[in-house]
Amino acid sequence: MPSLFKIPVTNLKGVGPAKAGSFRKLGVNTVGELLRFYPRNYEDWSTPMMIADALSHKNCCVKAKFSRAFQPSVIRSNLVIYKIEVTDGENELVVTFFNQSFMYEKLRRGGEFLFYGTVRDNGYTLEMTSPSVLETSDMYIHPIYPQTANLNTKQIEKAALQAVSMMPETTNDPVPEPIREKYGLCGLGYAIKNIHFPENFQALAKAKQRLVFDELLVLQLGMERLKSDRQEVTSHKIKKDFTKEFLELLPFKLTKAQKNAIKDCIGDMKNNSYPMNRLVQGDVGSGKTAVAAAVCYTAVKNGSQCAFMAPTEILAEQHYRNLSALFKDTDIRVGLLTGSMKAAPKRAIHEAIRNGTVDIVIGTHALISDDVEFSSLGLAVTDEQHRFGVEQRSKLIAKGENPHILVMSATPIPRTLALMIFGDLDLSVLNEMPPGRQKIDTFMIDSSKRNRAYNFLKKQIDNGQQCYIVCPLVEQNEETDLISAEEYDKALDKTVLKGYRKAILHGKMKGSEKERIMREFSDGNIDIIIATTVIEVGVDVPNSTVMMIENAERFGLSQLHQLRGRVGRGKHKSYCILISDNQKPNTIERLKVMCDTNDGFKIADEDLKLRGPGDFFGSRQHGLPELKVANLSDVETVENARLAAQEIIQTDPLLSLKEHRGLNFEIQCLFASVGSTERLQ
Ligand code: ADP
Ligand code: MG
Repeated sequence: MPSLFKIPVTNLKGVGPAKAGSFRKLGVNTVGELLRFYPRNYEDWSTPMMIADALSHKNCCVKAKFSRAFQPSVIRSNLVIYKIEVTDGENELVVTFFNQSFMYEKLRRGGEFLFYGTVRDNGYTLEMTSPSVLETSDMYIHPIYPQTANLNTKQIEKAALQAVSMMPETTNDPVPEPIREKYGLCGLGYAIKNIHFPENFQALAKAKQRLVFDELLVLQLGMERLKSDRQEVTSHKIKKDFTKEFLELLPFKLTKAQKNAIKDCIGDMKNNSYPMNRLVQGDVGSGKTAVAAAVCYTAVKNGSQCAFMAPTEILAEQHYRNLSALFKDTDIRVGLLTGSMKAAPKRAIHEAIRNGTVDIVIGTHALISDDVEFSSLGLAVTDEQHRFGVEQRSKLIAKGENPHILVMSATPIPRTLALMIFGDLDLSVLNEMPPGRQKIDTFMIDSSKRNRAYNFLKKQIDNGQQCYIVCPLVEQNEETDLISAEEYDKALDKTVLKGYRKAILHGKMKGSEKERIMREFSDGNIDIIIATTVIEVGVDVPNSTVMMIENAERFGLSQLHQLRGRVGRGKHKSYCILISDNQKPNTIERLKVMCDTNDGFKIADEDLKLRGPGDFFGSRQHGLPELKVANLSDVETVENARLAAQEIIQTDPLLSLKEHRGLNFEIQCLFASVGSTERLQ
């Protein structure tokens, strides 16, 4: 309907310059845009209920005739209560209005009307307070639009009704017929009519399905386009797969999911002339590191250098330790580069990176600083990718010549959101845990039971296990952070935990100091780590079995899940204790999700539902265009849209065919609105 996008809303009856101004605030300038401005909700006036049946529903519609009017009661000069009794032939209903004399007068004239509201039984009469009232001719599903101060939903509805009637009989459907057929989609014209004025709820569902599909399809196509833009020739194509050799080094057997992910990666690097661009997603503890190590191994054996970037020093150091141990009897040389390293070793590692005497260099953001030069970077791995901006990722990539890219990410990103944000990446999912993992039992308690929790920790430690306590934060500030951890430590000496080996881990600490403590903990020389959230990501000490979190309410679900993921990594039964005195229903509901499930994907989806995608990454921009109708937890549609996008791209990569012109146009609109080409360079 491109032509309707050229007709200003002022062409509609009842829309003058003032209203047009209000429409503009809603992002609506033209009739076409109005058609694409969807209701946020609906009221069902289409199937009125009997008054008695309405009792068991919240908001609903009843059809009733005037039977008598009561005397208005004047409560104050500015408050008059009007009551009218109506009947559906079986029961009477008293409808009450405040100050609406015109409504009183209108109903008093007699006749039948529709009343929309909630019926209550007050003991002697059935009542509905301040209902919306319409004529019986208005018996349909009414759209409720987002409104502004000067434009209410009724006025928008009026305009939308005209807009819908202006739609041509046969619209040019941007989604080609075969795809519509395959995925059971209704036509665009039908969808738009029914999203505004649904014939019934089935039609509304159909309309929504179609519009959601369109939105996701266009997004996916946009992502595919960006991806194809990047498929340049790589000089790091690998010739031989060394995974078999690698497996000999591993102290355990890979899970099937890990094997598949490795196979996906090697396939990418071996079979294509363009570089690998893959996301490996797996819940905490699913064994992403081993996947990365395997891929690095084969890359190095084929003559490439690898960079492995982690978001924190602790994590980089841990990876360094693990990979050094894993590769100690091979000719692979592993190096470490972090910001807090002393000048001399830093210079040495810079030198080694430059002349190629180190094969795998693990590090933090220090890896992307300007003075780091690789001899021949062939594979860039980023761990916990959602913590890095795209800019940082591309900086790392720029250190090589079209290197392969492997991105690893834990669950905090729901599957559907990941598909969209990382839609320009191929995806492997680790949907399986290494064998022998047990469910982590999670409890929610208030601080009155804290001492019992300490007793529990004591028992575990006496059994040879280790514990984490995430201590409360007074303020979000690294200085007070330390103080509160130290005070907490002191307070513990007045409990049953006195005399155990404790250590503090906090954000302000030097990298080497954190490293020392983590190593001590890992070696079993520390019983309890008292930490701020620096332990959040990736730390791996299989002997630890309890994670106790103070003020659990201040964390998001995904964050809690990450924290909990520090335990339950070995063969011992593990526990998570959430302490909170916050009684807000929302908080309790959130924390209960943690007690109910260990499934990180579920938790992420709940988190998304409770907080919305906008908040998902905190203040971080994820660069997604705003979705109007698509629900991100609708996995099936996301996947269908993805498949459809791939089909379309395969037959017509540039979307230059006539039947794809509409889609092409929409992709351009989409990306013009977010400037996301910058995001995805
Ligand atoms: P994440 O996916 O959270 O990064 P890690 O790579 O840190 O997980 O692995 C978690 C733990 O599981 C580590 O101790 C690792 O050695 C171990 N692990 C990984 N894969 C396996 C496997 N297939 N069998 C047994 N243990 C494994
Ligand atoms: Mg990890």
